[in-house]
Amino acid sequence: MSEFTDFVSRAAVKASDEVHRRKIAKAIATYNTAVTNTKANQFSDWQKARSLAAEIKNYTLAHLADLLEQFEANFIARGGKVFWAATADEAADYVLQLAKERRVKKVVKSKSMTTEEIDLNEKLEHAGIAVRESDLGELIVQLAGEKPYHIVTPAMHKSKAEISALFQEKLEAPPTESAEELTMIARRHLREDYVTADIGITGANFIIADAGAIAMTENEGNGRLTMSCPPVHIVIAGIEKVIPRLTDLSLFLPLLATSGTGQEITCYNSIVFGPRRDNEDDGPEEMHVILLDNGRSLLYNRPHFREVLRCIRCGACLNACPVFRTIGGHTYNVTYQGPIGAVISPHYNGLPQYQHLAFASSLCGACSDVCPVHIDLHHLILENRVAAIRQVKQNSFWRVAMKMYGWTMRSRSRLNLMRGFMKLGQPFLFVLGKNRRKRVPELAAKTFAELWKENH
Ligand code: SF4
Repeated sequence: MSEFTDFVSRAAVKASDEVHRRKIAKAIATYNTAVTNTKANQFSDWQKARSLAAEIKNYTLAHLADLLEQFEANFIARGGKVFWAATADEAADYVLQLAKERRVKKVVKSKSMTTEEIDLNEKLEHAGIAVRESDLGELIVQLAGEKPYHIVTPAMHKSKAEISALFQEKLEAPPTESAEELTMIARRHLREDYVTADIGITGANFIIADAGAIAMTENEGNGRLTMSCPPVHIVIAGIEKVIPRLTDLSLFLPLLATSGTGQEITCYNSIVFGPRRDNEDDGPEEMHVILLDNGRSLLYNRPHFREVLRCIRCGACLNACPVFRTIGGHTYNVTYQGPIGAVISPHYNGLPQYQHLAFASSLCGACSDVCPVHIDLHHLILENRVAAIRQVKQNSFWRVAMKMYGWTMRSRSRLNLMRGFMKLGQPFLFVLGKNRRKRVPELAAKTFAELWKENH
């Protein structure tokens, strides 16, 4: 089966799964309430804040190479190492090589979608290295043998009862549906790993050019332990994560927290300038930053798509998307789901296999409305849709049908005529609905124009 047919069958199953829809609706309703309150309390002018963030990111993109080199020079000056990875394989190979040289047996990781993008866990495990996910959501999906469901909340689709059953089975934990107790079970399970792991791997929310530092934001403190306990810390970050100045964090940290989780500020915010220095008591002996391209330059060089590199991976567009809420994150079968995924995944993973994602959108624009860096997501999805249509070799029947449709829609009288024909054929439309979950809607008795005439 192709990616497309797999996608359609997964979507059909999820769309009719009432339990799944209830879980997601509940999680997103809680999120929406928090975001609405925080936006109102924290920002006197939300629109101005997002315009400013977009402006800073546009400046960044206009000076991308210079800012990355500025970061590199500053970071190396403090004893860090920087590796430029053009592809996912180059990034993973660099990590594997470091692990091999140091005879690594175990790595501990904090949540990082970039490492998901390069399939790092699979590659490390294949090389015989144990990988411990330290973020609670990531640990849950790792134990379940699944991929993250959502770029910010990887286990959004799991109820407390399901997590409890998983912990009982995999960690021999006692049954409980208390969120606090479940968290403590994970904590006990992970504590030892921080001090016994040979390498700690994290992502970065921001790469700060003028400071030569990385910034990481998280809610559990696991990221901080991951980066500071093991002797080696590796950061893997996309090249678009760079921001020009340390002071830009005063806008981006609250913006990300508000859009990502509805918090005013995330609980743990770490700014790391390099490995441990001689006069410091703790921290890693070595620190490496891998700057990952993996298709980003391709987007950079496509003028319409460059703006998508402003993304700060807050996940707000996923929560706003009616399609994501209906079919769920796993249906997309790509690292980045929802509207942002529908824009970038066909470019990262290949348009021929993933062009169908351009159609996983109602084009309602809710994603563009919530994006804190003003990315015009729904128009970019439309751009992908146009590219997909151009690429597909359409059969002659479809081409003729679309031509007729266009011809009909361009004239009111032709549309009325078509409607007349369709009314005649309406008794036979049930054939289309046979064996399908969707009911074929009936044609309205009167058109909008007829009703308008009658009522005015
Ligand atoms: S596209 Fe915008 S809303 Fe979506 S994840 Fe990126 S920053 Fe957030």
